Amino acid sequence: MIKQFASDNYSGICPEALDYMMQANGVDGIAYGDDEWTQKAADRFRELFETDCEVFFVFNGTAANSLSLASMCQSYHSVVCHELAHIETDECGAPEFASNGAKLLTGTGELGKLTPESIEYLVTKRSDIHYPKPKVLSITQTTEVGTLYTLDELSAIKAVADKHDLKIHMDGARFANAVAGLNASPADITWKSGVDVLCFSGTKNGLAVGEAIIFFDRALAEDFGYRCKQAGQLASKMRFISGPWLGLLETGAWLKNAKHANACAAYLSDKLAGIEELNLMFPTEANAVFVEIPQPAIQALRDKGWRFYTFIGAGGVRLVTSWNTSYERMDDFIHDLKQAL
Ligand SMILES: *Cc1c(COP(=O)(O)O)cnc(C)c1O
Repeated sequence: MIKQFASDNYSGICPEALDYMMQANGVDGIAYGDDEWTQKAADRFRELFETDCEVFFVFNGTAANSLSLASMCQSYHSVVCHELAHIETDECGAPEFASNGAKLLTGTGELGKLTPESIEYLVTKRSDIHYPKPKVLSITQTTEVGTLYTLDELSAIKAVADKHDLKIHMDGARFANAVAGLNASPADITWKSGVDVLCFSGTKNGLAVGEAIIFFDRALAEDFGYRCKQAGQLASKMRFISGPWLGLLETGAWLKNAKHANACAAYLSDKLAGIEELNLMFPTEANAVFVEIPQPAIQALRDKGWRFYTFIGAGGVRLVTSWNTSYERMDDFIHDLKQAL
């Protein structure tokens, strides 16, 4: 067993997704997404979100974010996001590349969340022809530091977006964990809160590969298939992405997995809070815990084979749980940590 809390993308494929992948493998299927698995998965998304949205599948989150942002703006526009946003810090300039130059404008806010004031400042700071015109607002749910935008916060953000005619993009790399963490429906925290496009990660939820891009504003999806194809993101054997997605949606595993991961993070957070030498950096609201651990103890944990990241978000040790995190692994970690201290 690999001893890790590095990321939910270290985990394997969950049983439900694997089962559907095997089923999709039972017979030949039509290529490039014209198959029944893809059709059914798209219909299931429309049921889940209670609206007639357009659905596309790509291989990873960087492509999902970059291509969807490119469809929401022109090269001379700008995208407002938090300074810790994955699109700013971890996509190697892909959003700018895919949009032929749209610029990211980074804002601030406590707990990894953009504030209406910060958005307002960036958008109104200039209005002349020399500044890239703000067109899109991108928010991450759950945030890069494992917190959640509440419904009230989303509504305040929507008000600023409406005022300045900005489209809203949501990076939902951990969207399932957000639904599990908030007492709200998928519809409530997306299109009913003004979100135009959602990138919904399957990979971090339990798939081998595959992110869904959900266009609530269908007009933005015009010719989007061509954009995916041009970017090398159209899977010819699409059913092996959409089939497992159908497995997550039909069995409810998407939410079960997220609830388990969130419960594990809460457990871990609780144990860590009880250790005097440590300092929890953010409230644990989904499936990530950020904690300050003295450097020698970090090294001792690494020497014992534990893997975790220390460069994400605002730094500190980031511990991420997933669908297959076990209580045994968490107890082992806490045990080793206490020894290291
Ligand atoms: C993991 C992640 C992504 C997607 O990353 P890929 O490695 O490109 O799949 C996007 N946004 C956030 C916040 C993430 O954590």
